[in-house]
Amino acid sequence: MEQRACRECDLIHEIPRLAVGATLRCRRCGAVLYRVRPNSIDRTLAWTFTGLILFGLALSFPFLALKTDVVSQQTSLLTGVSKLYAQQEGFLALVVLLTCVLIPLLQLFCLLYVFIPLKLNLRIRHARHVFRLFLQVKPWGMIEIYLLGILVAVVKLAKTATIVPGLAVLAFGLLVFSLTFAISSIDDHRVWDQLGDDR
Ligand SMILES: [Zn+2]
Repeated sequence: MEQRACRECDLIHEIPRLAVGATLRCRRCGAVLYRVRPNSIDRTLAWTFTGLILFGLALSFPFLALKTDVVSQQTSLLTGVSKLYAQQEGFLALVVLLTCVLIPLLQLFCLLYVFIPLKLNLRIRHARHVFRLFLQVKPWGMIEIYLLGILVAVVKLAKTATIVPGLAVLAFGLLVFSLTFAISSIDDHRVWDQLGDDR
């Protein structure tokens, strides 16, 4: 059974299986320890699928305009990254690839890998490892990190490329919000409970 310390007074409690909507309070000081969020798996999955569609849009529409001496050419995020790399802008290509492609992709993958089987009541190998990986990556998926990545990208890009305001940028912005909502819908106590106790 999972244990959790009260945030106010540090008293350790065991967290039992609770009905949806139930709230567990600290025995000593009455602070809320844990609240069962209704439909958390459905909401997490809904936001994840929304994120997946937005991610596809962000990758397929023009995102960057790369300047050469004569022309300015619009390109998608992925071809933009490879062209930046080809223009000796390796660090910039890595920042854009990491913040705009790899981190959201990893988060979407982990969410789907853990939550589809949970929804279908299936046991799947390595789900606990994937969920732990997800919890470790989570801080790196915060909005500030994305914004920082984009800021660095924009500042560095000003020389060689600019970001094309359009559908891809809108989709990417909405993707960040979808991921944030997906993460905030997660009831990690319930997830661990359903994934099994041996962590
Ligand atoms: Zn307490």
